[in-house]
Amino acid sequence: MKNNNNYEFLLNKLTSLNGVGKKTTEILKKKGITNIFDILWRLPKSYIDRSKKSKINELQIGQISTITIKPIKYSFPRIRNLPNKVTCKDDTGYLDCIFFNSYEGYIKKILPINQNITVSGKVGYYKKKYQITNPSYVSKDESIIEKIHSKYRLTEGINEKYYNKIIDQILNNLPIIPEWHDKKILKKFNNEKWNDSIIKLHDPKNIGNFQSSYYRRLAFDEILASLLISSEIRKKIKKIKKKNKVFNIGQFNEIQKKLNFNLTNDQKNALEEINFDLKSKNKMFRLLQGDVGSGKTIVALISALNVVESGFQVALMSPTEILSRQHYSLAKKLFPKNISIEILSGKTENKQKISIYKKIKENEIKVIFGTHSLFQKKINFSNLGYIIIDEQHKFGVKQRKSLSDKGGKNCDVLLMSATPIPRTLIMSVYGDMDISIIREKPKNRKKVITYSKLESKLSDVVNFVKKQIKDGDQIFWVCPLIKESKKIDHESAINKYQYLKKIFPNSVNILHGNIDKIEKEKILNSFLKKKFNILVSTTIIEVGIDFPNANVIIIENANKFGLSQLHQLRGRVGRGEKQASCILMFKSNLSENAKKRINILKNSNDGFIISEEDMKLRGFGDLLGFKQSGLKSYKLADPIHNADLFTLGEEEIKRIEKEEIDIKRYKPLLKLYDQADIINDII
Ligand code: ADP
Ligand code: MG
Repeated sequence: MKNNNNYEFLLNKLTSLNGVGKKTTEILKKKGITNIFDILWRLPKSYIDRSKKSKINELQIGQISTITIKPIKYSFPRIRNLPNKVTCKDDTGYLDCIFFNSYEGYIKKILPINQNITVSGKVGYYKKKYQITNPSYVSKDESIIEKIHSKYRLTEGINEKYYNKIIDQILNNLPIIPEWHDKKILKKFNNEKWNDSIIKLHDPKNIGNFQSSYYRRLAFDEILASLLISSEIRKKIKKIKKKNKVFNIGQFNEIQKKLNFNLTNDQKNALEEINFDLKSKNKMFRLLQGDVGSGKTIVALISALNVVESGFQVALMSPTEILSRQHYSLAKKLFPKNISIEILSGKTENKQKISIYKKIKENEIKVIFGTHSLFQKKINFSNLGYIIIDEQHKFGVKQRKSLSDKGGKNCDVLLMSATPIPRTLIMSVYGDMDISIIREKPKNRKKVITYSKLESKLSDVVNFVKKQIKDGDQIFWVCPLIKESKKIDHESAINKYQYLKKIFPNSVNILHGNIDKIEKEKILNSFLKKKFNILVSTTIIEVGIDFPNANVIIIENANKFGLSQLHQLRGRVGRGEKQASCILMFKSNLSENAKKRINILKNSNDGFIISEEDMKLRGFGDLLGFKQSGLKSYKLADPIHNADLFTLGEEEIKRIEKEEIDIKRYKPLLKLYDQADIINDII
């Protein structure tokens, strides 16, 4: 391998390196490393200083030392379990090199009699003599030993010497890449070049220098790469010309008459932004973000009706069938009778399905409700003009792009999400979309009162539940586990269900991920119809279903969950008229940090604030839905410690967009950092 300008070799498989074979490749693949570029981001965790040489009479027991010695005598006992021994000396004394599991031939080769050999390893002492057992390094060439050796987190099957050889080979051959950053940006990072930065990153003396210029530069590279991809996708979608939708706001007034509440200002604004996009000649690709219970559905339905008025069809997708049914029923109530709407579900009979497909194809059905399977099934629309996707926080940028492509060019897209994103991250997660935010909660909404209780006070909680049931309320009882686990000491749904059944016979039911889909829907439906009072479940009730009659939620082992997730769960109650409560159960007294977290939850009902505080306290990786939210996990960048870099990234993207800078400049950055084929669509 030669030093070169071709950065693309970084994308080569590891086998393109000298001395790396299939076996190593397989081992590293399991760790998510498939090419040379990937391996750059495994950083040294510590180092061993072998740079100072000692004489034998200076050795200290237990220390790692480097010594140049002369082998003078072999002793190969040839008895099982007895090690081979090589007696060595320098001008100050004697030292034994001890070998377990090494062949005589090999030992003779690496430690030839009477030659100067440098060895390095941990010094021991046995029968009044210094010894080194299985020395880590043995070589005639002292220069490869006498230095600081990085220690990486190694995987079984790969040893330190070998791994360091691989890394050295890469670092010695890093390509010189034309700088992608603007001069002004680079200056903020002390003009650190990419390849120099990588070398510094791997210098074991630099471990933990997160605030150094080279580290920040590399973190910024990552951030900018992901923002650039989003920005390019967004530009691309915006360029798509469509047939604009023509409608007036008469529909809105009709629906408003049927509602017993007025839309909040945020709802009205969001609706206006959506209407504006629908009427424009450019394709809409918009996110409607709003906390749980902020009333996104009604906004979506009104905009759907507008699209129908303009002559197009609408598809509204939900993550679950029960949610889809809920949306459908609401639309049935609100939409004018002459507008034909339908729902497709797993339960829909085959004959019925075929008839629905036909009606969709012939433009008889105007709005179709269903789960994401609406896309997979071979449904042919006559004139699809609008796709609405509810609770989409499981889609990443690439999936969103393909969703938007699928509808065709006349098709506007609205995604709805309740996952609150801290401000610094909004662009990173949703930079490919325009965003409407509903922050204001409906006025009639009472704050859910949040309590914390020790598990030992379970009987108080049971008494409280008894009282609530007498008042006709329904209760969610959430447990982190489905069934008991030997490994984790958390409450399980099955356990709690059996316990509660004894106290409340005939009024408890259970729901968890192992129950099949049809059964799940049945249980939720009968809960909605108030057939029983207590639903014991895992967190699968998290997603958007509206249970106006559920007023209490009890969450076991509450410290196991992130604040955003607790907030999301809490959002399942308090949608009706009555005062709702949320009881967080804990095993033992709370630590100071846990108290802080719980207080945030008690004092705030704003998902955005909660997510920001949660991120500060726990780190961003744990936040609800973040792993699946499309925010890729960064290698170096950290939204908390590098918040300023995320802001800088946003500013830089705005500049790049405004000055219409050619994306080609960033080709190496994008090729390296975002290896998916989406790049080929862009550049
Ligand atoms: P989410 O944003 O979580 O999807 P929903 O759309 O399900 O919230 O709305 C939650 C509940 O609030 C529904 O019962 C809905 O009818 C009601 N709602 C929506 N908007 C308002 C409003 N402006 N005032 C009062 N209630 C509202
Ligand atoms: Mg919803």
